[in-house]
Amino acid sequence: MGITFFLASLAFLLPSITNATPLEKRATLDDCLSKGSVPTLAAGSADYTQSLKSFNNRVTFKPAAYAVPTTVKHIQDAVACGASNKVQVTAKSGGHSYASHGLGGEDGHLIVDMRNFANVTVDQTAQTAVIGTGGRLGDVATALYKQGKQAISHGTCPGVGVGGLSLHGGYGLISRLKGLTLDNILEIEVVLANSTVVTASETQNPDLFWALRGAGAAFGIVTSFKFKTFTAPESNIVFQYMASPSSASQLSTMLSALQNFTRNTQPPELNMRLFLSAFTTFSGVYYGNRTDFDKLMTPLLTSMGISTGGFSSVTTNAWLDTLTSFSNGPLEQTKPYDTHETFFAKSLMPEWLSPDALTALAKYWDADARANSRAWYLLFDCHGGKASAISNVAADATAYAHRNATFKMQFYDRVYSGEYDAAWFGFLNGWVKAINDASPGVDFGMYINYADTNLTRAEAHEHYWLGHYERLSGLKQVWDPGHVFEGPQLVGS
Ligand SMILES: Cc1cc2nc3c(=O)[nH]c(=O)nc-3n(C[C@H](O)[C@H](O)[C@H](O)COP(=O)(O)OP(=O)(O)OC[C@H]3O[C@@H](n4cnc5c(N)ncnc54)[C@H](O)[C@@H]3O)c2cc1C
Repeated sequence: MGITFFLASLAFLLPSITNATPLEKRATLDDCLSKGSVPTLAAGSADYTQSLKSFNNRVTFKPAAYAVPTTVKHIQDAVACGASNKVQVTAKSGGHSYASHGLGGEDGHLIVDMRNFANVTVDQTAQTAVIGTGGRLGDVATALYKQGKQAISHGTCPGVGVGGLSLHGGYGLISRLKGLTLDNILEIEVVLANSTVVTASETQNPDLFWALRGAGAAFGIVTSFKFKTFTAPESNIVFQYMASPSSASQLSTMLSALQNFTRNTQPPELNMRLFLSAFTTFSGVYYGNRTDFDKLMTPLLTSMGISTGGFSSVTTNAWLDTLTSFSNGPLEQTKPYDTHETFFAKSLMPEWLSPDALTALAKYWDADARANSRAWYLLFDCHGGKASAISNVAADATAYAHRNATFKMQFYDRVYSGEYDAAWFGFLNGWVKAINDASPGVDFGMYINYADTNLTRAEAHEHYWLGHYERLSGLKQVWDPGHVFEGPQLVGS
């Protein structure tokens, strides 16, 4: 008698597999999945081992089973297998969650890998595109461009999955002009916890549509999005300046000037970021002409104390080259995807950093960050402000809770070899604490797409979804009362 047959027979005797060992769980699930002919990866196979490698090497998990569906019916059957066996079901698209939420965020989930749902079909007349959730951003951008030079607003890293990015935000270097990725979704096809397939849009299941755009992972397995597209702009000013703050007060002045500009003056055509690290850069894209660009940038650079000499560059790029300027490599992705880092990250989404908060941030940089020899960075994306398309969407139009955030701040600490020691968590936790302590009574919020493994469930719910959490929690009871789609930080967990 083979071990699988033996375990399958054993599992038959169990009232529920909730308390079963991982091997028993796997046998029961495998039996159910094979009855529905759902393709799975065998534990220990090369593909399985590769698929369990998260983007973040620091955080990996062992699933109960790993499905690779090729049809929507397979996804429905996989969800039914998970639900009937009380095994939580998790969709995985690009596997780029910082906390490996695409592998469940903990051991024992049934993973539904969306790699076979990566089609991109453009309707050039309507300027819409149906995009499978398993595609990676670089491939999606290339496919859109090949079909009538179309584009959508999305993040910068070409390996990120369109599924996770779009369901929880999606900020990139055209977002101040075109909105977040989720702001451009017209329709979503989703497999629900009860295994039915529905469409969510402004007119069909509008409350589900609301929840999926900001907290999607807790509400179903999304098979495809219908996006509105735009014709890619072909003459874009791509810039990068070196910034070298030499003291805490200089950094604080630089950030204060940038914050004022972003809140009050920055037009939607200007998209940019300050990357604070051992080598600090100020870079971005302007969708307009050089004369207007110079008129905007000259006073801004002066107020920030940034000179235009040295390694600075200002070039005019076509659309795909504009994307490549920020992609750290080619747009089109090789299979299997095999780029990884070892890191810990955090985020803050402030509307306004007070002078005290800026001073605390800058002092921590001077005293602690500059002495840290690991490859850390603090990225300030200029996300909001009066003229930003992101901020001009009503605060409660989607479940995304950070419409008023001026900066999207990403704190990142990584090592290039060896393991990340848990003792190092204190570096970024301390930096965020210093800023929070200097901002009494303010909850800046955090971005789930930069998932922070150090947050408790309650902290994650509070900071990722702020005032939207209560409504989301109520909708979870409606759409997934049995908690089929769960994870340590997801809505309802
Ligand atoms: C190198 C790098 C660069 C990044 N750059 C940016 C950036 O420029 N802008 C930005 O906004 N973010 C950026 N991010 C963050 C990124 O948006 C998130 O990590 C995102 O969640 C990744 O999505 P994924 O599909 O690749 O990940 P996954 O780990 O596969 O999924 C992330 C979450 O989404 C859920 N999910 C995925 N697919 C589905 C689906 N089909 N149905 C339901 N739930 C699903 C998963 O269950 C999981 O909870 C970056 C991340 C990395 C690692």
